[in-house]
Amino acid sequence: MRGAVLHAPGDVRLDTRDDPRIEHPTDAIIRLAATCVCGSDLWPYRGIEAVDGPVPMGHEYVGVIEEVGAEVTTVKPGQFVIGSFFASDNTCEICRAGYQSRCVHAELIGAIGTQAEYARIPLADGTLVATPAMPDDKLVPSLLAASDVLGTGWFGAIAADVAPGKTVAVVGDGAVGLLGVLAARELGAERIIAFSRHQSRQQLARAFGATDIVTERGDEGVAIIKDLTGGFGAQSVIEAVGTQESMMQAIRSTRPGGHVGYVGVSHDVTLPGDELFFSAVHLHGGPAPVRRFLPDLIDRILTEAIDPGSVFDLTLPLNQVAEGYKAMDERRAIKTLLQP
Ligand SMILES: [Zn+2]
Repeated sequence: MRGAVLHAPGDVRLDTRDDPRIEHPTDAIIRLAATCVCGSDLWPYRGIEAVDGPVPMGHEYVGVIEEVGAEVTTVKPGQFVIGSFFASDNTCEICRAGYQSRCVHAELIGAIGTQAEYARIPLADGTLVATPAMPDDKLVPSLLAASDVLGTGWFGAIAADVAPGKTVAVVGDGAVGLLGVLAARELGAERIIAFSRHQSRQQLARAFGATDIVTERGDEGVAIIKDLTGGFGAQSVIEAVGTQESMMQAIRSTRPGGHVGYVGVSHDVTLPGDELFFSAVHLHGGPAPVRRFLPDLIDRILTEAIDPGSVFDLTLPLNQVAEGYKAMDERRAIKTLLQP
């Protein structure tokens, strides 16, 4: 089969890879209906994360089951399925508490690489959620978004304790931040303030429910959030970047007693204990347990209550994967959908 492989920073190619096969009786093989490039794929692409020789890429996926292992009972060949970027058994104590991304048997789908024609999905019973019927083609991008960016933005909103009537601020205008805006709206936030300097992203943030846009960042941005909230700060802040600046911007934008939901993959963030102590904010986040939210998100997509697929502003055939990365790296695209 053909699949994307990162050879070195800036060098991603569509190579011939081994066809996946059932390795464990709990595996399934899926034929990808669509896949995409994640903001987190740009960390190794930019050389910020070390690249250890040629590595397969991609961890977001929707597709049709081709084959299942002998122990798989809840999904079967021919079904359209969605899963998260962590495979999980969905039965251990951590999964049952709703933290499937930290399942005791968790496996990273990124190591398998779903920017490809086929993929082996471990722990298929726990990982995959099937749609009731073959979905309409127009809903496939939204279902693909549920695999990571929607589920991650949703967790950011849940971790930030978004609830009806609250004021929410969102740090980060990538796909996760934008879908954090959508999640905040769906969860009943009254006011949603999106930090963004890019016009196309501001428009999408407004379409997803942002009521205010703040173009300043860092402490200037924090000062504006304070101005907009009677000097208090927001009650809920979603952090969707993962840098020192964005994390401090999120904490400082939150009022005492408020909640920060941090879902940007942390890169060299160091928190000052004294400031954290006196901030009196709740911090919760980490790798989103997307599997927890999938049944609800799939239902909202199939009933067309939400349209998260509009974060994909570039669609390319899989053989143009290099251009898909380049467009996101140069911020010409918010998110690239790849068609195998
Ligand atoms: Zn588990």
